[in-house]
Amino acid sequence: MIKSFSLSRVLFVFLMFAAVVAATALLITKKNEYPSVFTLGNVDLPVLEIDAGHGGEDGGAVSLTGVHESVINLDIAQKLSAIAELAGLPYTMTRDSEEIKYPDSAKTIASKKVFDQKRRAEIINNTPNAVLISIHQNFFPHKSARGPQSFYAKTPGSDSLAQFVQGTMNTALFPGNRRVAAPIAQNIYLLKNVSCPAVLVECGFISNAEEARLLETDKYRLRIALALTSAYQQYLDEKNEVQK
Ligand SMILES: [Zn+2]
Repeated sequence: MIKSFSLSRVLFVFLMFAAVVAATALLITKKNEYPSVFTLGNVDLPVLEIDAGHGGEDGGAVSLTGVHESVINLDIAQKLSAIAELAGLPYTMTRDSEEIKYPDSAKTIASKKVFDQKRRAEIINNTPNAVLISIHQNFFPHKSARGPQSFYAKTPGSDSLAQFVQGTMNTALFPGNRRVAAPIAQNIYLLKNVSCPAVLVECGFISNAEEARLLETDKYRLRIALALTSAYQQYLDEKNEVQK
């Protein structure tokens, strides 16, 4: 969890948050039918589980300039948590630093990864009314591949959340992106083993020079966090409509 911010950081994030509220209004078509972030009707607000992929001894993919995916994931996750904090949206994080404490019994990187994935699934499954957004960066040998893509678990609600994530990221970050929300591969432990609505988002390709350059900037990571907030808001609005 983020516990304290400097005043300038709070002000900055608040201004950014105001921007996402405005962006949400622009992005959704029937804007007058949707409540604002601050009035969510009768919906019991879910707990947003913000999962920064990798971390600890698992740095994930490495960008062309040598930046580990885990660092980019964590920064976006922290920005998203700061926005959730200001918006009064309940959230938790599966990690809030690059360090992960492993038990003595986990001696190899593989066993440490297994421990960490089980730990994350446990946190999420022990949270009532959770919604998972797992943040990752993509990598592909063909360096031309780029653009965000969302993947959804089999659990109810996942597909819908992934559509909102994909649509918002396409609009806000990469207009013309032809990627669509897709079912997650069955070998992805976390999304296979959580019982809540769950989405994994590959925010961009760190194997693509232009996208890696963007992903290494604070400004672009903030735009991603804002797009994810907007997508989550649309998901809550849809839930609200269904429950009316
Ligand atoms: Zn990853």
